[in-house]
Amino acid sequence: MSHEPYYPDLSPISTGIKGVCPRCGRGKLFKGYLDVAESCSSCGLNYDFADAGDGAAWFVMLVAGVLAVGSALFVEVNWHPSYWVHAAVAVPLAVVLPLLILRPVKGILICQQYKTKAAEGRLHEHQ
Ligand SMILES: [Zn+2]
Repeated sequence: MSHEPYYPDLSPISTGIKGVCPRCGRGKLFKGYLDVAESCSSCGLNYDFADAGDGAAWFVMLVAGVLAVGSALFVEVNWHPSYWVHAAVAVPLAVVLPLLILRPVKGILICQQYKTKAAEGRLHEHQ
């Protein structure tokens, strides 16, 4: 612990979106597309604390659902297209959007979790 290097106060939003280590901001947080790595390749932070579970997936499905329905409504109100146009717009959105935002959302939740636990640890130290 005496050789614990100084780590910058990184925003869980920026490290989460980039999918990098919440402590040093350099190592990768994921080893696959959505698999969390075992530890940081740069600073060695153990990612065992990461337990986002299905929270990210539910959140993403909710947001993507709202966006897909919203875009379908927007297209309908503005252009009154045929049903196949709706299918061509809404279906890719409903499939692609969750894939695009699931990883950054999961990253943010994990980095937020790291920050929360780090803050709790600091509080106990001062007691
Ligand atoms: Zn790191």
